[in-house]
Amino acid sequence: MPARIRVIQGDITQQQVDAIVNAANNSLLGGGGVDGAIHRVAGPALLAECRQLNGCATGEAKITRGYNLPAKWVIHTVGPVWQNGEQGEAELLAVCYRNCLALAAQYSLRTIAFPSISTGAYGFPLVQAAKIAVREIQSFLAIDSLPKTVTIVCFNDSVYQQYSNSLDSTIPLKD
Ligand code: ADP
Repeated sequence: MPARIRVIQGDITQQQVDAIVNAANNSLLGGGGVDGAIHRVAGPALLAECRQLNGCATGEAKITRGYNLPAKWVIHTVGPVWQNGEQGEAELLAVCYRNCLALAAQYSLRTIAFPSISTGAYGFPLVQAAKIAVREIQSFLAIDSLPKTVTIVCFNDSVYQQYSNSLDSTIPLKD
């Protein structure tokens, strides 16, 4: 039986999954990093739909179509900006994963891909972020049959190593 969580190195905009998650900002009007990459591939219709959403609070998640992306849907979430670790950052990051997964289940999505939320421009320490991500995904999959599989897409080698380590230190969930 294949594991329900996998970690790969790659570009999230190229993933053939039902939904990809965007590490967006509160405006949902596009930004740098993975957000910029997603909007570039999806095309201007994504921005037009995002304009109708009135932004997104930190920790929340909103869904749009994927337009020119291989993924049919984009789930936009806003991770916390790292300040000093004492402003609720860890819980807010956990809530991002939970809300994205809940939205995917609500839409009956079978496959979803996450980037490493908050660890780029938002400065969340990678080791801690990887532990939170894997823990939250594992806990969600343990109680819900959807999504069937979750892919964590790491853009570079150090990110890939951290998420792989986090996943290896847990017991894999099977179908
Ligand atoms: P945040 O503002 O939430 O920190 P960033 O986009 O700055 O978001 O960074 C989040 C992570 O996304 C970083 O690890 C960055 O390397 C990664 N990233 C950037 N472009 C892509 C991409 N095309 N596919 C997957 N991950 C990406």
